[in-house]
Amino acid sequence: MIEDKEQKRTSLNALGEFGLIDHLTKNFTIQHTSTLKGIGDDAAVLEFKDKMMVVSTDLLVEGVHFDLSYMPLRHLGYKAVMVNLSDIYAMNAVATQITVSVAVSNRFPLEALEELYDGIALACTKYNIDLVGGDTTSSKTGLFISVTAIGEVDKEDISYRSGAEAQDLLVVSGDLGGAFMGLQVLEREKEVFKVNPNNQPDLEPYTYIVERQLKPEARKDIVEILQLLGVKPTAMIDISDGLSSEILHLCKSSQVGCDVYEDKLPLDPTVISSSEEFKLNSTIAALSGGEDYELLFTINQKDFDKIKGNPNLTVIGYMTDASQGANLVARGGSKVPLTAQGWNSFSGED
Ligand code: ADP
Ligand code: MG
Repeated sequence: MIEDKEQKRTSLNALGEFGLIDHLTKNFTIQHTSTLKGIGDDAAVLEFKDKMMVVSTDLLVEGVHFDLSYMPLRHLGYKAVMVNLSDIYAMNAVATQITVSVAVSNRFPLEALEELYDGIALACTKYNIDLVGGDTTSSKTGLFISVTAIGEVDKEDISYRSGAEAQDLLVVSGDLGGAFMGLQVLEREKEVFKVNPNNQPDLEPYTYIVERQLKPEARKDIVEILQLLGVKPTAMIDISDGLSSEILHLCKSSQVGCDVYEDKLPLDPTVISSSEEFKLNSTIAALSGGEDYELLFTINQKDFDKIKGNPNLTVIGYMTDASQGANLVARGGSKVPLTAQGWNSFSGED
């Protein structure tokens, strides 16, 4: 093995493909009885008995979905798993297994992949997920990481995007706009660093929003809370692509309209203060910032008492007849059509 003792950069070539896979995956253990065979054969073998199985995949590309100049590899590994688990939870399912595929250029040493897998391992431990396979290959430039997540759900519990009905309440978990504002802070610091590499940024006041960007958590807890409360969402969707575009998806799939109230959108104080600092509109950050790994769902009004007062959940509006369209009711009371970018009256500013 060729090791550079000072920087500890072990060449990937030194290990070979099988040595590398073995090295990266040897500490992962299997937790679920549904995993009959994990890593080590031509395919993983899973058995879900009388449950339904849900599957989702995302591909993350360096320079497109992440920037390694401020994204530590450990966080990237963690986030790549979260991105996928979020889609499983959005089906009201329990995530059980993942596969992880990576393509790396030779500019990455073994130590970099170890960091990436540390983040993946942490996510697996925290969310009780079995790593059951993947693929490892080289790329000409940059890093690619693709995760496939698998989950299980009882047939009667599954939540599609298409089940919302007029009069249902529209509910969102957590708070909005944080990941987008965190990205603004990181991009600004990157520019400052380019000009003066000795400048040590003080990110302390922005901890919450920077973590929303770099270390998001998928909302496993929301699926558990809803189960506990005996609430089955009539429709559910993950809002990582932005709240307003996902509201529109939900409305379209369910063939309903909706009224969303601007003054109900849950915002962390840091999102409000940083929006002011960056001269951005916090409502736009909440509606179209994206990368908030939160769940958006609809419930029948009879379930309102069960969820009201829960600090994790906010009712932001209600569904209407499709003919009413999807609207934002602004603070002043005026109603404007929602667009994928936010809402119409601000489309010129986006
Ligand atoms: P194949 O020739 O069938 O593609 P590989 O030699 O690539 O098999 O993989 C051997 C085993 O290691 C398989 O179980 C595969 O799923 C697993 N594996 C390969 N790459 C990774 C990875 N990056 N992370 C986790 N498991 C992996
Ligand atoms: Mg392979």
